[in-house]
Order: sequence, then C-alpha cells, then structure tokens
Amino acid sequence: MLKALQVPQRKVYNMYNIYNTISDLDLRNGETKRINCPNCNGYKTFTVTNNMGNLVWNCYKVSCGLKGGKRVHLSVDDIRSGFGIRQDSDAAPFQLPSYVVHDTNRRSVHLFCAQWGLDEDELGLMYDVKDDRLVFPVVHDGVIVDATGRALNKHLPKWKRYGNSGLPYVSGHGNVAVVVEDCVSAAVVGCGSFVGVAVLGTSLAEAHKRYLSQFSTAVIALDPDALPKTLAMAKELRGYVDDVQVLRLTDDLKYRNDVDITNLTNILKGD
Ligand SMILES: [Zn+2]
Repeated sequence: MLKALQVPQRKVYNMYNIYNTISDLDLRNGETKRINCPNCNGYKTFTVTNNMGNLVWNCYKVSCGLKGGKRVHLSVDDIRSGFGIRQDSDAAPFQLPSYVVHDTNRRSVHLFCAQWGLDEDELGLMYDVKDDRLVFPVVHDGVIVDATGRALNKHLPKWKRYGNSGLPYVSGHGNVAVVVEDCVSAAVVGCGSFVGVAVLGTSLAEAHKRYLSQFSTAVIALDPDALPKTLAMAKELRGYVDDVQVLRLTDDLKYRNDVDITNLTNILKGD
C-alpha cells in the first residue's frame, strides 16, 4: 500500500467535557489522579498530573489516544511547598540533634546491622549517642528532612521520630515502590528495581500518597497481621499510582522469607 494513502484520521474530542472533568479534579502540585476517561469512558484509563502547574493528561486506551496539557495557576501553598513535599514551609529547615552522629562504629550498631544484613555505609545510617539508637535518615531531594531511630537496647520507644515531616523513609533507586511498615524492611527490600518505602506505621498520609504517585507500580507489603489495612491502603493508593499490587506476606519482609521474596519478584514478572 502506498504510504501517502495512510492519512491519519484526525480525532475530534469534546474539549468542553475534557476541561470540565480536569478542572473538577483540583489537583495539587505533584499529584496524579487516575479516573474514567471523559472521552472513551474507559475505566480508569485516564490520568491527569499536576507537574509544577502544568496539567498533563493522557488516556491509556490506544483506540482513544486522548492526551494533552495545559498550564494552570499554582496556589500559593503549592508554590511554597515546591513539589508538595515540604508542607510546613514556615518552619526552620530540619536539623538532627548534635548527638546524632555519622560515626556508626559501635558494637551495638554492628550487631544490629549484621543481624538484618544492612550495609550501614551504603544506607548512610547514623547513630544516636545519647539514646543508643541506629538512625535512619529520611532523605528527600538529597536533603535530610527527618529521621527515625531504632533503639539498640531494650529502651522504649523502640522507634523514635526526630522530626515531623510526615514523609516516608525511602531506600533504593528503582521504579517500583514496595510499601512497608518500618525502616529495616525498607532497607532490606530497597535494591535492584525496588525502592523500599517505609510509611512508619500502617496508615497513609497525604504526603505519602503524593510521594508514591511518582512510581508506576506500588507493591504493598505490610506485616501479615495487617491485611485489612493493606487492602484499605491499596484502595486508597489506586487514585495515585497506576499499578497497585498487594503482596500477601508469610512473614515481615525484613526476615527475607524465601516465599515472600519469590512472590515479590514474581509480581514484577507479571507485568
Ligand atoms: Zn479514553
């Protein structure tokens, strides 16, 4: 067939409908939503992202092909909070107390890291001299914005939060987020294409959801006894992340149970 004959048919969309749908979403900067397509009615095939005031939308259905972009006004709060990560912009930048040091050369640290197979240097772990805690810095955009410390003795609380950013502890550099409860699990799972994201609890804050919206896939892997919360979290995340999966664990991920690790790897192969 002659190439010249294959003139692509120009698609006509109902822009009024599309703009109406998009403006109803009221997306904050950095936020993504996945909804039914206003053009083809495809079930959740339509995503809209607010990227620094640039609304970008796109329908995944090839037969529809709706996509576009539009600049929108950023609210003052959006501008203040940059990518929507630092919420409390009036507060002074986070600083770790001086008794949290980079030197982790302590017996208690080495024992703990050996027990869980953690590389303290690679993870940039720190040490709380005052409280004998192994400190996991919460780093976002290359800046320590918070930290959480695990007691290395029998002292309570077992975990201590040093800041109030509300942001997750993150370990690794992949494109698949594995959502776990604590830093040790996040550090254990955060390698290869996985980024361990510790929500430091079993509920999702708005900041977590916004942070997670940058990933194409999120695997929720909470403790086995938290299954109802896992399912609720998965449902909540579906508006933010395209592909949300639930990993039914036999044990907490930090125990590196063979079955769990295999199931986690298989989730990716299923893509
Ligand atoms: Zn569509």
